[in-house]
Amino acid sequence: MEKVVIVGTGCAGLTAAIYTGRAQLSPLVLEGSQPGGQLTTTTEVENFPGFPEGINGPDLIMRMHEQAEKFGARFQYATLEEFEPGTTHHRIKAGGQWIETETLIIASGAAARWPGLENERRFIGHGLTSCATCDGAFYRDVPVCVIGGGDSACEEAMFLTRFASVVYLVHRRDALRASKIMAERALANPKIKPLWNRKPVAYLAADSGEVRGVVLEDVTTGAREDLEVKCVFVAIGHTPNTAPFHGKLDMDANGYLIQHGGTKTNVPGVFAAGDVADHVYRQAITAAGQGCAAAIEAERHLAERE
Ligand code: NAP
Repeated sequence: MEKVVIVGTGCAGLTAAIYTGRAQLSPLVLEGSQPGGQLTTTTEVENFPGFPEGINGPDLIMRMHEQAEKFGARFQYATLEEFEPGTTHHRIKAGGQWIETETLIIASGAAARWPGLENERRFIGHGLTSCATCDGAFYRDVPVCVIGGGDSACEEAMFLTRFASVVYLVHRRDALRASKIMAERALANPKIKPLWNRKPVAYLAADSGEVRGVVLEDVTTGAREDLEVKCVFVAIGHTPNTAPFHGKLDMDANGYLIQHGGTKTNVPGVFAAGDVADHVYRQAITAAGQGCAAAIEAERHLAERE
C-alpha cells in the first residue's frame, strides 16, 4: 500500500513530490506519456520567481526532478490507465499493474489541441506539430506557419523566427488573444507575418507525404487560399488529461477536474493540482503552488486518518 501516488511530472506533480518527499511519505510518482509536462516544450521561462535572468523550461523541470529525488520521491515510467476510488484507499492501474494507495495527487496536466482536420493524425510529425521547441530547428530558412492567437502561438512564432525565413501567424480573429507584452513583441518581429481572420480547413500534402502547406479560409468572406509552408505549428490551447477519471471524479464541461476547496476533489484522499484542474491561470508558478497545496492536504488527510 502506497501512502501517496502522484500522477504527472510537470511543475505541479514535481512540487507535490518535493513536499511529500520532504514529509517522509516516500511518494511514488508516475511519469506519464510526457515526462516533465508542458515546460519541456517551452524555451525561455522569464516569469518563474527566483530566475531574474530566465531559465529554460527543461532545465527548470530537471532541477525540480532532482530536488524531489533528493527527498526520496520514487519515479516510475508508467501512465495511469484506470482509477477505482475507494473509501479507505484507492486503486489505480499503471503500466499494466494495479497499485493501492491511501492518497492520490492528480497532476496529469493538459495536452495540446489540434484543429481536427482531415488526415490530421497522419501528418503529425510530418510537417505538422504542436512543439516549436522540439521541431523548429528542422525548418531553417524556409517558411512556416503557426495557428493560434494566444500566448503560446506568439511564443512559438517568436521562437521559430530563429530558424525560419518567415513565420505566418494565422489567427481566426483580427486581434491576438495573447497578453499585451507577448502580442506586441510578436507583431514587432519583422519575420512574423500575421494573417488575420483566417482558419485552417485542410492540410496540403507533398508527394513525399509531408505537409507542404495549409488551406486557409477567410472567416469573413469564406474565400479560400493555399499557404505554402514547410511546417504547420499548432498552438490553439489544451485539453486536460482526465480520461481515466470520467464518471469517477467531478469535472466541468471541458473535462477539467473540479476542486472542492483547496485541491480536494469530490473523493476524499484524491487531490487535483495544476493544469488538470486550472483553465484560468495555467502558469508554471500556479501549478507549482497547487502541487504544494495538494501535498499538504494529502499529508493532513493521512494524519487525520492515523
Ligand atoms: P489560449 O489562450 O486558449 O489561446 C488559444 C488560441 O487558439 C486562441 O487565440 C483561439 O482563438 C485559437 N483557437 C482555438 N481553437 C482553434 C481552432 N480550432 N482553430 C483555430 N484557432 C483556434 O491558449 P494558449 O495560447 O495555449 O495559452 C494558454 C494559457 O497559457 C494562457 O493563460 C496563456 O496566458 C498561458 N501561456 C503563457 C505563456 C507565457 O506567459 N510565457 C506562454 C504560453 C501560454 P480565439 O482567440 O478565437 O479563441
